[in-house]
This record gives sequence, structure tokens and C-alpha cells, in this order.
Amino acid sequence: MSSGAAIPIVLGIPFDGQSSYLRGAAEAPAKIREALACDASNHWTETGVDLGISGAFEDAGNLEFLEEDAFAAIEHGVDEIIREGKRPVCLGGDHSITYPIVKAVTRKYSGLTIVHFDAHPDLYDEFEGNRLSHACPFARIMEAGLAKRLVQVGIRTINGQQREQAQRFGVEVVEMHALPAYEKLKADGPVYITFDMDVLDPAFAPGISHREPGGMSAREAIAHLRAIEGQIVGADLVEFNPVRDVDGLTATVAAKMLKEILGKMIAGKG
Ligand code: MN
Ligand code: MN
Repeated sequence: MSSGAAIPIVLGIPFDGQSSYLRGAAEAPAKIREALACDASNHWTETGVDLGISGAFEDAGNLEFLEEDAFAAIEHGVDEIIREGKRPVCLGGDHSITYPIVKAVTRKYSGLTIVHFDAHPDLYDEFEGNRLSHACPFARIMEAGLAKRLVQVGIRTINGQQREQAQRFGVEVVEMHALPAYEKLKADGPVYITFDMDVLDPAFAPGISHREPGGMSAREAIAHLRAIEGQIVGADLVEFNPVRDVDGLTATVAAKMLKEILGKMIAGKG
């Protein structure tokens, strides 16, 4: 469905100002690019796309925060990309950035389905008094009516308050123990993918701020990416924290996920 669609363009968003526990995710975009370019692997995706071909995708570099309000800067930066007829693939940064990104995406696309990979539902109304925390973006998105469907996969930290929020907003939460959830990932209309690296088991991706055991393997994550059906209009990859990485392992895994997201967007199907 997305074959022949707008070119994906990578945009680094070096912002971790809404991270509740640890800083460091702002360093991620550079590390992911470095791992993506590493000669240890070739540039073909598992969907059969050669990302090494000039024009397969573009890289806009990192967002420059020219405005005092970081969220406004993010929204405007992504809006500019969409106006140019391209599809944003944002590299965080902490997960708070998804709210301004989705705001920009929904200026063009309505009836959005968001496929959300995460250990955490990120549905708190506020966290430690902060409504813009990386623990809250999906509460903001849903209360603003920005998504038709929010499908969360890999969740394994839901508590009473967040379960209430999920019910209030009609969120389709698929907890880790209920996977696989391939059928849930078939969407009508535009799809936005948001991939929090902590959906992966810390054994696969130790370089994250909130290590939550019992998560997806890299293979399970790729299988769920492959299962997504719909027109993918944008994506983000967030919460990789290089400060916590071990021997560059998480950078390599993040680059692999980025590759497969780009490959999925370009190939149009798994
Ligand atoms: Mn998250
Ligand atoms: Mn998370």
C-alpha cells in the first residue's frame, strides 16, 4: 500500500529533557547512525530493500532547537518534513517527543493508527507533577483525539492507574505475556510506528534508562514490525540511552530496528 509512497527521511531529535530517571538518550541519534553505517553488516533489509542505494532514504541530520519551547521546535521540524512530501523517521531522544511528532503528522493524516512498542504504556496523566514527561505522551495524544487506534505491544509494567487510563481512552493493550499479536497490527488507513527500545529484553538492549526484564527478543520485535499492515506515514525510535550501553550492543540493535522500519516503509509489506 505504501509502495511508491513518499521517501522516508531520518531526523535526529537529541532531546532527553523529559526523561524522569536518567539523561543520555539525547546522545542516541549519532550512535545509531554510526552503527547503521558500520561495515560489519550490509545495507539490505530483511524486506529485500537495499538501503545503500542513493535515494532509498534521506537523512536530515539532527533537529536544531532554535525555539525555546522544545516541543514546538519538534512539531515544526516534523511539519516541515511532511510539507516537503516526505515521511519522518525520528530518532530520539526520550519518548516525550512522540507527542509533538504525532501532532505534526495528524495535520496531514487523520484516522491514524499508532503501533506502539514498549515495556511501558506511557499513559500517566502526569508523572511527578509533569504532564509532558516521557511517561505521559500517549495520555496527551489520546485526550487530544490524535489517534483512531492506539495498539500497544510488549507491555509488562501496567499498574492500576494506567489500566484505568487505557480503558478511558480505548487503548488496545497487548501485554507481553499475550504475544504474538500480529492480527492486531492490521490497520485501515495511515499508520504511525513508535518504537521504544525498552520493549526489548535488557539482555538484547541493555542501553536503556528503564531496564524491564521479560521483554521481546530482537526477532520477536522484527516479526511484529513485519506484521504491520497499512500505509506507514511516519515512525520514531526512542529511549536508546548510550550512557547505559554495553560494548555498543544496543546501538547495533537500534540500527537493526531502524533498518527494518525503513525497509518496511519502503517495501510496503513484510
Ligand atoms: Mn516509552
Ligand atoms: Mn518504555
